[in-house]
Amino acid sequence: MYKIPLFNLNYGKEEEEAILDTIRSKWISTGPKCIELEESFSGLLGSKYAVSLSNCTSALHLSLLALEIGPGSEIIVPSLTFAATANAVKYVNAIPVFCDIIGPENPTIDPEQIIKLITSKTRAIIIMHYAGFPCELNKILKIAKKYDLKVIEDACHAPLSEFNGKKIGTFGDIGCFSFFSNKNISTGEGGIAITDNKKLYEKIKLLRSHGMTSLSYDRYQGHATRYDILELGYNYRMDDMRASLALIQLKKLEKDILNRIQVRQAYIELLSEIDEILVPFLSVDTFSSNYIFPLILKNSDFTKRDFLRGFLEKKSIQTSVHYPSVHLFSIYYNDSVSLPKTEYYSDNEISLPMHGKLTDDNLSFITNSIKDGLVE
Ligand SMILES: *Cc1c(COP(=O)(O)O)cnc(C)c1O
Repeated sequence: MYKIPLFNLNYGKEEEEAILDTIRSKWISTGPKCIELEESFSGLLGSKYAVSLSNCTSALHLSLLALEIGPGSEIIVPSLTFAATANAVKYVNAIPVFCDIIGPENPTIDPEQIIKLITSKTRAIIIMHYAGFPCELNKILKIAKKYDLKVIEDACHAPLSEFNGKKIGTFGDIGCFSFFSNKNISTGEGGIAITDNKKLYEKIKLLRSHGMTSLSYDRYQGHATRYDILELGYNYRMDDMRASLALIQLKKLEKDILNRIQVRQAYIELLSEIDEILVPFLSVDTFSSNYIFPLILKNSDFTKRDFLRGFLEKKSIQTSVHYPSVHLFSIYYNDSVSLPKTEYYSDNEISLPMHGKLTDDNLSFITNSIKDGLVE
C-alpha cells in the first residue's frame, strides 16, 4: 500500500445504504435503479437519451454497431488513450487508424492530422477528452461534417466537463462514459452511452440485452409475456446494485470535482518553480473533471522518467502513466506508423496522485519529492 495512492475511492455511508436498499428491494439486476440512473445522467448532461451498460468498452462497441460500422471501415482514433478505444474498433472488424496528438501542452487528437488520415474508407472518428479537458471540438466537428464522418466521444475521463458551456459527451453522435473503480464516478464496473438520436438509442438498448424485445424487468412488471430476438445482441447490461451506487456518486460528483480543481491549482503553483516540467492544458479554463493530473518532463526520455517514478515510489507516492502508446502494442504494431508527439508524451508523462481528499501537506510532499528526484 502506498502512503499517497494515485486515487482514493470517494465512498461513504451513502453508498453502503444504497446497496442495502437495493438488496432489500429484492430486485438487483437491470431495473428501476438503472432507469433512474439513465434519467439522472441524461438530465445532468443535457442529452435526450442514456443507456446504462456493463462498462465503457461495451458502450464503445455498441456505438460502432449502432452506427453500422463494419468490416473494412477505417476509424480514426487517438493512440494516447486506453487500449479499449481501439479494441472496440477491432470488435466490429473495422480498422483503427491511429492519429497523433497536438502536442504536450494539448495532448488531444490533432485535427490537422485527422484530415491527412481521411480516405474513402473512413467512416468515423473516436475522440478522447484526455484528463477531462476537451478535444478541439469546433475543428473536429467541422471536419466530420465536411467529410460526412460520425463522431464517437470516449468521455471516460470527462463526466461534467464542459466546452463552450455544454457538457462533453453531447457533441458527437454518441458519448461513452466509464464507471470503473478509479474513474470520477465509481461503481466497480459500469458505463453509460448518451445520445440525442432516438434510433441510435433504441439500437444500443436492443443490442445491450441479446437483441431481445423486452427485459426481464418488463416481464416482471407484467408489461410483456413474450419476447422476440430481432438481431444478434450481447449481455452488456448494468445491474441495479451498481446503478444505485452510480446515483449516489453522481450526486457527489460536482463537489468532488471542485476539490480536484483546487488540487490542480495547488499542483500548478508548486510545480511552477521546476523548469524541467510542463503541465498540459495550462491555458484551458473550462470546467474540467480533472480525472488525472499529468505532467511532462521536458528534454527527457523514458529512462529519466522511469527513474523519477521509481524515486517517487520509494517515497511511497503512487504514480501512473497515461498512457503507453496504443499503436506500439504488439497487437497494433506496424513499423510504417510513427506518431512522434504521442511517443514522446508516452515516454515522458507521469500522472501524479489526483483525488478530492489530497491535503496541502500531501501536495508539498509530492512536489518536493519530485524536486529531490530530479537532482538525484
Ligand atoms: C477507463 C477507460 C476506458 C474503458 O472503460 P471500462 O469501463 O473499463 O470498459 C476506455 N477509454 C478510456 C479513455 C478510459 O479511461
